[in-house]
Amino acid sequence: MIMKGKRGVVLGIANKKSIAYGIAKACRDQGAELAITYLNERFEKKLAPIAEELGCAERLYPCDVSKPEEIKALRASLEKDFGKIDFIVHSIAFAPKEGLSGRFMDISKEAFDVAMDISVYSLIEVTRELKPILSNNASILTLTYYGGVKYIPNYNLMGVAKAALEMTTKYLAEDLGSDGVRVNALSAGPIKTLAAAGIGDFSFMLKWNAAHAPLKRNVTIEDVGNSGMYLLSDLSAAVTGEIHYVDGGYNIMGMPAVEFDEDSKPTIAWNGESN
Ligand code: NAP
Repeated sequence: MIMKGKRGVVLGIANKKSIAYGIAKACRDQGAELAITYLNERFEKKLAPIAEELGCAERLYPCDVSKPEEIKALRASLEKDFGKIDFIVHSIAFAPKEGLSGRFMDISKEAFDVAMDISVYSLIEVTRELKPILSNNASILTLTYYGGVKYIPNYNLMGVAKAALEMTTKYLAEDLGSDGVRVNALSAGPIKTLAAAGIGDFSFMLKWNAAHAPLKRNVTIEDVGNSGMYLLSDLSAAVTGEIHYVDGGYNIMGMPAVEFDEDSKPTIAWNGESN
């Protein structure tokens, strides 16, 4: 039981397809005690059975990260339940629809500000507010995507937010390192979730990734859950400020692998077809 004796909070479970659910489940399966959060009343009912399954029915709290008072209230609840906590999972992102397709330069300042606030600043604020109740070898994990490093069609505004999130991870890692607290980001390959449904042509992204990743498949929330659990556990005790890819190896590719047709001519396999 790798996580036995560890207590933590998971922000960002919308349903059982959420990456945060995969991470929470992996931690729970390895003995962790959890608290989980929901965005607003609409989601409280939906999350109740999930909280029950994860053994934290009595630790299901509201936390809209755009409301500082809810983050403060979350700290008070966690302090009451656990005293100190050993890990935080920040699996939250949001960008208005206009930021996830079309021309990048048309993004409005309003959309930009909302995306940066919820997807990036929230990691800083949650970290700062929960810092007083972090144990002295605590681990914080956030979720990112390759579209923060390289251009990905339609990822647009979220790409800029993920670039900022990845640097935020590194600055926080340095900030908190002397207190023994680690901060890492897990860069997951594309997975069909609620948030992903907002990205234009997402199903093409899935096909492209599966065709070109060295492992020739897409990743699952179980894959991400297990790797996330490693980053939250003492197995990764000397790992901080890291952007850890769990993407079937997609990020190492500079060019799609060449295949050969029956006349031994090079061809490229993609989208399930050859061209
Ligand atoms: P998801 O299930 O839709 O999770 C996103 C979560 O963010 C939801 O629980 C959502 O709550 C929450 N959220 C949005 N605005 C919030 C706010 N103001 N306060 C609190 N919570 C808020 O989608 P997911 O794919 O698992 O996304 C989790 C993380 O993984 C995100 O950072 C995403 O960018 C990242 N990621 C996803 C992929 C992918 O392909 N799916 C790949 C790499 C990284 P509600 O649903 O209640 O609105």
